[in-house]
This record gives sequence, C-alpha cells and structure tokens, in this order.
Amino acid sequence: MAICILCHKRKAKRQCPAVYNLICAICCGTHRLKRLNCPSSCPYLQQAQAIEMAQKEREWSEKNAARARMEEQVTAYGVQEAVSTFAAENPDLTDREVLMALSSVQDAVEREVLSGIRQEPQATGRVLGLAKRILENAQKMRQRIGIPHNVLLARVCRLVKGRVAYIGERSKDGRGYIRSLRIDVPPQSLDAFLNRLTASVRTS
Ligand SMILES: [Zn+2]
Repeated sequence: MAICILCHKRKAKRQCPAVYNLICAICCGTHRLKRLNCPSSCPYLQQAQAIEMAQKEREWSEKNAARARMEEQVTAYGVQEAVSTFAAENPDLTDREVLMALSSVQDAVEREVLSGIRQEPQATGRVLGLAKRILENAQKMRQRIGIPHNVLLARVCRLVKGRVAYIGERSKDGRGYIRSLRIDVPPQSLDAFLNRLTASVRTS
C-alpha cells in the first residue's frame, strides 16, 4: 500500500492530478483548491463541488423562504394599517367595505402584473377611498423598504380578505374584523412600524 506523498503518514488511495501521485483522502480534502492546484476534471473535486453547491442552494432557498414570510408579514401590516387608519376616520365603516376595497386593490394589482400598465382600482365612494389608501401605504413602503412588489401585494390582499371573511362571519354587527384589527394594528402606526423595522435592520 502506497503512503501519501503529502503527509507521509496515511495510506494513499487517490490518484491526485495536481501532484501526479497518490495522496490520502484527508490531504485531498484539506488541501483541495488551496495548496493543490486541482484541475476541474478531477472526479474528487467534482464530487466535493456538487455536495458543496447542493448545500449552499439549500441554505439559500431556506433563507429566502424565511425572507418571503417576513416580507409577507410586513406587507400585511402596511395593508391593515391603511384599513385601521381609514376606519378611525370613518367610524361606521363595515367589514364588507373592507372586503370590497381589498378585492379592488387585488384586482387592480393583478391586472397591472398581467398588462404591465398602471391600473386603478375599480370601486366607488368610500370603498375607492380605502383602496387608494391601501395603495398609498404600499407606495410608502416601497420608498422606505423596497417592498412589496405587486405579486406580493396581491397575495397579501387575498390573505387579509380571508382573515376579514373569517372574523366577519363570526360578528353580528359586521365590524368584527375592524374591531379586532385596531388592537393589533393601531391607526397611524405605519411610520413608527417602518422606523422600528429599518432600525432593527441597521443594527443587526
Ligand atoms: Zn495525506
């Protein structure tokens, strides 16, 4: 059995194309692409590279999934803050109007994604007022923190609609969602929320 030409200790089983000699697996792993000028054709290098890349890709996709969840929560705050603030200004606002406003924003944003052309929400009166407020919050967030893009905004409108419908079904006066919202998302709280967010990003 040959002895490794690099460490002169361990058994050498790998034909190393960088030193044209037999080396051990430990030296191969330790000195690969560092002390050894490994050619891309080396099967030991190729195998190690494939394992490393698979690991990196997994880390990246997991990190991005966490980021996607975070962006979704942040966007949901912005959308709901618009509702909360608008409801404070319009005390008789109903969950049904909130649903209609969210639907019109989702629809406008989806048409914008498909057409590439700016689209206005199709609603009237107070529902249109709330829809515009939601879009203003989205715009403010884009300027401050770079999200949400339209696909995310449409998704969040859909998710919040589900929440409104779920809570709305359980309230008798048709304002159950608005009532519960004002506890979690106080009116006029978007600036403070974004300030906290950017401060925590800066210090982390
Ligand atoms: Zn060795």
